[in-house]
Amino acid sequence: MPENNANGPNKDDLIVIGGAGGFIAGSLARYFHDRGFTRIRAIDKKPLPEWYQRVPGVENLCLDLSQEKNCKRACEGAVEVYNLAADMGGMGFIEKFRIECLRSILVNTHMIEAAYRAGAQRYFFSSSACAYNTTLQEDPNVTALKETDAYPAMAERGYGWEKLMSEMFCQEYWAERGLMTFIARFHNVYGPNGTWDGGREKAPAAICRKVIEAKDQGIDDIEIWGDGTQTRSFMYIDDCTQGIDKITHCEDLIAEPINLGSSELVSINRLVDLAEEVGGVKLQRDYKLDAPKGVAGRNSDNTVIERILGWEPSMPLSDGLAKTYAWIEQQYNDRKAGKRTVS
Ligand code: NAD
Repeated sequence: MPENNANGPNKDDLIVIGGAGGFIAGSLARYFHDRGFTRIRAIDKKPLPEWYQRVPGVENLCLDLSQEKNCKRACEGAVEVYNLAADMGGMGFIEKFRIECLRSILVNTHMIEAAYRAGAQRYFFSSSACAYNTTLQEDPNVTALKETDAYPAMAERGYGWEKLMSEMFCQEYWAERGLMTFIARFHNVYGPNGTWDGGREKAPAAICRKVIEAKDQGIDDIEIWGDGTQTRSFMYIDDCTQGIDKITHCEDLIAEPINLGSSELVSINRLVDLAEEVGGVKLQRDYKLDAPKGVAGRNSDNTVIERILGWEPSMPLSDGLAKTYAWIEQQYNDRKAGKRTVS
């Protein structure tokens, strides 16, 4: 059963998950599967061989969810719909491909309508901390972001505005049509089975990979985007999937965007320290000041989630990073050996 509730679906209710060829939605399919749910439909536009995880017993469909007819097909018979499909990546991607990020609005627009028409009971949307007002994030010594800090709006260009508009769709589907919608603003998620190379990877995976590469190739320096003082919090994937479940089955959170993130604030320099500790090396830092680096500082204020759910993400970064490093190292070695890998 979902962790916290009497509101969760029955084991044989159909759960639909968009974006399941990717990191978080693929892990969510596994999460529900491992809890005994027997009817899970996972959808992604990527061809099946490129999915990061394929969970046994799950119905996998390759469909482009930016098209209305595909969303109708995806949502047929759904009791719960989780939309995590989006064209996204780390700062390197979202600063460079704003149009692609904005176009993800097509996915949510068609998915929520299809979910509503199919008679789904609950609809989850994965928003982001990038929806917050960027002018509140100019200092690395941040005050953690509260849910109310999204407005007055000045979201991250492209990606953040798409999230804010899609949140609004979710809120209005509840207000006007009575569809129960749930919105989590994720703060940097990391862990095994995530993108670790190729341009869309985020900082924890990128830093682990660079440390692994340096060790493997006998290089003694590491390139870091920005001056390393930027601060962030990072949430381990298992906290994320558990949080999605808790949020989607909490009646007090209908149509209320809520932070889902760790409140352990670290600088990028600290993140590098941790990855070096796991790898057992110390590297010379080469700061690339003109690289995409995002806002100066960002943290998750977890007052609301603690008050409403009595829970918050709790995996310490040092533990989660060790697991992630080990997984990326395995991927790196597999790739060298010519085996198929995630990125
Ligand atoms: P991901 O890139 O690993 O997964 C997203 C998946 O969506 C990809 O597999 C992609 O192929 C798929 N997709 C994109 N457009 C599609 C379409 N038109 N039809 C079908 N599938 C499509 O990313 P992720 O990290 O798993 O992110 C999942 C969600 O969480 C996204 O909405 C993202 O914006 C949000 N989010 C993630 C983070 C994070 O740190 N990873 C932070 C904030 C928000």
